[in-house]
Amino acid sequence: MPSNNPDFNSVFEKQKAKSLELRSSKASERISKIKAIKSWVEKNQSGIAEALYKDFRKSETEVKISEIMPVISEARFIIKNLKAWMAPKSVSVPLLFLGTSNKLLAQPKGNALIISPWNYPLLLALKPLMAAISAGCTAIIKPSELTPNTSDLLHRMIEELFPEDEVCVFTGGAEMAIALQKLPFNHVFFTGSPTVGKLVMKAASEHLASVTLELGGKSPCVVDSGVNLKAAAKKIAFGKFLNAGQTCIAPDYILVKEDLKEPFIQTLKEAFENLSGTDYRNNSDFCRIINEKHFERIDDLIDKSVQEGASIVYGSKREQSDCFIPPTILTDINLNMPLMEEEIFGPVLPVLTYENFDEAINLINQGEKPLAIYMFGGSSATKKALEQKTSSGPIVHNDFGIQFIYHGVPFGGINNSGIGVSGGYEGFLEFSHLKPVIKNHFNPSSIFYPPYTPKVKKL
Ligand code: NAD
Repeated sequence: MPSNNPDFNSVFEKQKAKSLELRSSKASERISKIKAIKSWVEKNQSGIAEALYKDFRKSETEVKISEIMPVISEARFIIKNLKAWMAPKSVSVPLLFLGTSNKLLAQPKGNALIISPWNYPLLLALKPLMAAISAGCTAIIKPSELTPNTSDLLHRMIEELFPEDEVCVFTGGAEMAIALQKLPFNHVFFTGSPTVGKLVMKAASEHLASVTLELGGKSPCVVDSGVNLKAAAKKIAFGKFLNAGQTCIAPDYILVKEDLKEPFIQTLKEAFENLSGTDYRNNSDFCRIINEKHFERIDDLIDKSVQEGASIVYGSKREQSDCFIPPTILTDINLNMPLMEEEIFGPVLPVLTYENFDEAINLINQGEKPLAIYMFGGSSATKKALEQKTSSGPIVHNDFGIQFIYHGVPFGGINNSGIGVSGGYEGFLEFSHLKPVIKNHFNPSSIFYPPYTPKVKKL
């Protein structure tokens, strides 16, 4: 419990003092800290893979491609660009203020709190941390209690690399996050569910702390006329294979044009088998559901939807003892079924159909704004309709997941799927305050001062 932790408040006080010093830190100083993170991750790849394997049997290869490589790539991007991001920017001088100059200083917001989830436990702690450091903030990280091995490793890493007055990790569950949020942080960066996101935003309002909320939700995947079925199925299957579908931007459900339904489902089954054969349970690259509670949640979503008329058209036996759920495809779905009422967060794909494209748009717009929308195939008219008539995080045509690692494109949702963004320059800005500095180079004051001249009175 945080109240038993003697360091809890004192670390925050030390970080508060340190943040005054960090306000004027140079790009080179911040870059050397990013380099330290990058090199620690590079050197400790096997330890990272071991921790994630213990946490939910995530394979070494998946750890490499979805935890280690994105951290290294983001670090490189920051190292290359930070000096330019930090340089003061200016806007053109309005005619009314000729004789003045201006600059926008990107100043660190100060003390940041980072609350991270379990599904990419290293990446989703280190990516915001690197943004906080690049902006010149101090940070306290509260990683997820559901991945204790990775959280311990993160704790060790941060202790090795940083004094506690700059970066510190406090492990624990909800109670730790709640206690930390009682402290007057300047910015809270939260990645997790919309339900907890609301609580985080409420708690932040006590101190008027700004927030970045990277949340989740149901991301639709539209399969329209003209699609290359084989290529689309391979990418969609990978979206559900990676992390066993426990990815915030995984395709949550399929919306396929009615006449493509049967060939699409057949191609998708083949795609799952091409990725991993038929024995998913013994495939060491396919990870497990994080814990029994989540196993039961997904298992229930499937069973209850089947009781209400859904049909399983693909998927072997689920094994509670092993937290194993195989890729599962369901049809005969309606919007009131449990599978359509919450984010699935597992390797399960309900397939819905539409006759004309407006139905697909209406269906997407009936739900909360998604974190991502995928579209495979389509004419220029349907693509444009999807882009203009829906509201969501990134739309990706003909691919899955690339938006998360696409440097230069800010990543994030809208409303229920998130507030604010992460990654690159915009990620740096989330932890920065753009402070305007305006200088009047003339001593005489404006003509608008009293006593008002007849000319001013006539304006
Ligand atoms: P979660 O919301 O249950 O937990 C996230 C973190 O919040 C954990 O560290 C947890 O201990 C902490 N927490 C719990 N209760 C809290 C409270 N009352 N106040 C403050 N913090 C509290 O989410 P999860 O199960 O770890 O992750 C899955 C969710 O995260 C999914 O909805 C997924 O879509 C989303 N997600 C989003 C992104 C993104 O980038 N948008 C990335 C990964 C996951």
